[in-house]
Amino acid sequence: MIVVMGIVGSGKGTQGKWLAEDHKLVYVSTGDILREHASQEQQERMAAGGLLDDKEIIAMVDAVMKELPNVNASLFDGFPRSLAQTEWLLDQVKAGRLTMPVFLHLNVSKDEVKKRLLLRGRNDDTPEAIEKRFELYDAVTDPIFDYLKSNNVPVYDINAAQTPDEVHQSIIDCLNAIKE
Ligand code: AMP
Repeated sequence: MIVVMGIVGSGKGTQGKWLAEDHKLVYVSTGDILREHASQEQQERMAAGGLLDDKEIIAMVDAVMKELPNVNASLFDGFPRSLAQTEWLLDQVKAGRLTMPVFLHLNVSKDEVKKRLLLRGRNDDTPEAIEKRFELYDAVTDPIFDYLKSNNVPVYDINAAQTPDEVHQSIIDCLNAIKE
């Protein structure tokens, strides 16, 4: 399993889909699944830039994982996004459900992604929702990196301020270096 993490607008979706195609991995985006299946109340929370409850997300990911022919041959975009979700995922590793995922962090400044998001124009790309997502990223998602490091799980930083082609190449170089 490859896990692609990064602030909103860092290119997780673009890079995740591309990489999944290259490596014949099943692409799983919790955001995509939610945009299709979430309840009215959940959609509203998403549009405002909020996060959904860990319990709901974990149950959803658990169900998705049960459907995957090979959990190790998957790429997750947008999960985990909190410490509780990360703990759950590492518990699944401990239980032997999958091998330790490769965690990629697409690293880019907030100023750069603001420009990108206002161009993208999804319904949760309003200035207010973007600020909310930045705040939640710092408060809820960013602590995951220290948590992983303190558990001796490597996180690979990718410079995501480059062009999409360059970011893709950086990821490939990184994955090749891990294999060696
Ligand atoms: P994304 O497409 O990854 O940017 O996700 C869009 C929205 O879906 C997020 O802003 C959250 O509201 C919700 N969402 C997606 N994945 C998660 C997750 N792992 N935990 C909580 N909320 C999530």
